[in-house]
Amino acid sequence: MLSHILVTGGAGYIGSHTCLELLNAGYRVSVVDNLSNSKFESLNRVHKLSSADQKIDFFECDILDEQKMTEIFQQQKPDAVIHFAGLKAVGESVEIPLDYYQNNIAGTITLLRIMKTCNVKNFVFSSSATVYGDPASVPILENFPTSVNNPYGRSKLYIEEICADIFKSDDSWNMAMLRYFNPVGAHKSGEIGEDPNGIPNNLLPYISQVAIGKREKLSVFGNDYPTSDGTGVRDYIHVVDLAIGHIKALEKLSQNPGLVTYNLGTGKGYSVLEMLHAFEKACGHKIAYQIVDRRAGDIAECYADPSFAKKEINWQATHDLEQMMRDAWNWQSKNPDGYN
Ligand code: NAD
Ligand code: UDP
Repeated sequence: MLSHILVTGGAGYIGSHTCLELLNAGYRVSVVDNLSNSKFESLNRVHKLSSADQKIDFFECDILDEQKMTEIFQQQKPDAVIHFAGLKAVGESVEIPLDYYQNNIAGTITLLRIMKTCNVKNFVFSSSATVYGDPASVPILENFPTSVNNPYGRSKLYIEEICADIFKSDDSWNMAMLRYFNPVGAHKSGEIGEDPNGIPNNLLPYISQVAIGKREKLSVFGNDYPTSDGTGVRDYIHVVDLAIGHIKALEKLSQNPGLVTYNLGTGKGYSVLEMLHAFEKACGHKIAYQIVDRRAGDIAECYADPSFAKKEINWQATHDLEQMMRDAWNWQSKNPDGYN
């Protein structure tokens, strides 16, 4: 049984929701985060929401700081690592690729080297459906070919390949590559949620900020895709379902499965306009939008076949679109300025 989990990037959006689920499931949790894209307040709120007596041990530290990270590992002695820490904006990765490779790839190599030295060989990695590129067909299965066209996606794919090489060299590792589809929503309390810096890149945070009056209107990137209404289709998954996927992955790792890869998605695709209208229902008013040109690098459709995760780790998403929108709006309306 893996009982003590070190979570990198645990103060972030998906990390904070996962820490809460870990605590509630009885795990001991340590978090390493440099707070470059998050606030410590998220973990204060996780403590408030959690039913556990145990508190998270928090370390403000960059995963690239090998010395400090080694000390943390030697002191904490975790059984497993869930690795969320990373930069995640596709557009920004095209502008500053070296920063992305340094933070995501070099950071992960540093982390894995320390894990090897400290003999911690259970690893859950935040990968992404972006590794499938523009799939030849949907729904997407784990054995579909991979293809990436930007530094962010490349960092995810390279890390997956690095993990495969490590496993080849030493099969005592257990590694789960979790390919997330599009995480949205928030904990139902509205106490923790997504708190993007600056102008949101992603659809749901942008819609939320239009709904709350912080932005004028949504730009819908293209309505001439070969989809039902011409707008892009994605597999949106409630962040709490995603968080629970990590618990299921840890349970699997405790059975020594070696290297495993799972899609974490719902299996359903929704278009941009369907998302917008669902959000209007949740917030109770219209949301202004305009159709603009396609965004460079976007694909028409992306949704998962999640049946492998169901079969192998008994995981499936349970929250529907209405719950995703209700929880996203609850978080946004309770926290118009995020954690500030
Ligand atoms: P987030 O930015 O909210 O969380 C990432 C956390 O990592 C932040 O708290 C940040 O401060 C921390 N961090 C970044 N670099 C660090 C470093 N060098 N050292 C220590 N801490 C560092 O992002 P998120 O949405 O919670 O995403 C978590 C992970 O999931 C990321 O790896 C991301 O690429 C991946 N992912 C996210 C999505 C998505 O749409 N949100 C989709 C697929 C995959
Ligand atoms: N999208 C949009 N306007 C925005 C942000 C996103 O129309 O301001 C569209 C985008 O073209 C895609 C979908 O919403 O079809 C999801 O985009 P997001 O950036 O959230 O996720 P990803 O492209 O990584 O799947």
